[in-house]
Amino acid sequence: MNTSQSTPTGDALGDIAWERRRQTELRNAGRYEKTCADDMPNLRRLAVLTEEVGEFAQEVLTFEGFREARGTGGTYDSLYKEALHVAAVATAILEGIVADAQRETRERQVKA
Ligand SMILES: [Mg+2]
Repeated sequence: MNTSQSTPTGDALGDIAWERRRQTELRNAGRYEKTCADDMPNLRRLAVLTEEVGEFAQEVLTFEGFREARGTGGTYDSLYKEALHVAAVATAILEGIVADAQRETRERQVKA
């Protein structure tokens, strides 16, 4: 079976996985204290996701010619990059929620 055939969804998920690894490497290098997959309040996760949605919004506005925000590219590549950041942060949040639930279950078991 040939499993190397790419699909748009497979390519996007591969890029999300690559971006998640990059986020973790940046955290490990000290660039960030935590990623959204780490033990972090949900309000902070929401703030990080909202920041990335805002950056994507700026790219959309530049791309569509409504305005030109500093640091935006107005290209398909820059749109893709910011959409990828949104997807990767959302993925990290999913990882973090699962870890939170598992930690809470373990803590409940220790108390029982
Ligand atoms: Mg971004």
